[in-house]
Amino acid sequence: MIEATFMNKPNDTMIQLIGVGKRFGQFEALKQVSLEVRRGEKIVLCGPSGSGKSTLIRCINRMEEHTSGRIIIDGRELTDRTKDINAVRREVGMVFQSFNLFPHMTILKNLTIAQRLVRKTPEKEAKEVAMHYLKRVKIPEQASKYPVQLSGGQQQRVAIARALCMKPQIMLFDEPTSALDPEMISEVLDVMVDLARDGMTMICVTHEMGFARSVADRVMFMDGGQLIEEGDPETFFANPRNERTALFLRQIL
Ligand code: ADP
Ligand code: MG
Repeated sequence: MIEATFMNKPNDTMIQLIGVGKRFGQFEALKQVSLEVRRGEKIVLCGPSGSGKSTLIRCINRMEEHTSGRIIIDGRELTDRTKDINAVRREVGMVFQSFNLFPHMTILKNLTIAQRLVRKTPEKEAKEVAMHYLKRVKIPEQASKYPVQLSGGQQQRVAIARALCMKPQIMLFDEPTSALDPEMISEVLDVMVDLARDGMTMICVTHEMGFARSVADRVMFMDGGQLIEEGDPETFFANPRNERTALFLRQIL
């Protein structure tokens, strides 16, 4: 009975990819990728360099245009209509390896600018939202500083807070800790774990397998532009079925 209700909920799927392909000229960066992510689900995506992980998540928030197949985000298909692209960008937050903060703006300004321009939020409210998320990532005292005055870990937490200020339904992370000094990795992962516990729908490209074990509902392995294998973390790490997955895991674990 419960299962039937669950299956009938039409908007339970947040992200759907159907046979998605992406070409750069002759080169096929994504080949027939199909994927369904439920609301609140956490996916960890791993795979060797050049396998198409960034391209995949960039297609999901429309930083890249897929060249075949279909992508549907929260019921809205990504086509080339600008109206929809803006709607999708508001719904999908993204955090990059390089923090991409605006260097000439204070932390507070970094957090209010998109709210002001994209969401047309009044200044006072935008600042309140910014401070709320700065507290959430545990650095409210840095609000009036400039990015260069912060450590890498703090900058990445600001980048996460900045994305959250747009109240996204989905958060995409592209190797958010790979540019950090080792001692700063956990402060960023802690924020991501907190977000995961709060029910955010997340796709995280990361090789932090401790993080994958503690929050991922599913771990996926990508190679050569294809999703090769997926499983719950326990099965995935203990018993990879595919030889390429096993080889990859031996190299990173
Ligand atoms: P990953 O994130 O897994 O390291 P990427 O998605 O960045 O891999 O890249 C997948 C492949 O697509 C790589 O071979 C890369 O060189 C190629 N690629 C990515 N972006 C472009 C681009 N803008 N133009 C041409 N080739 C690209
Ligand atoms: Mg990448």
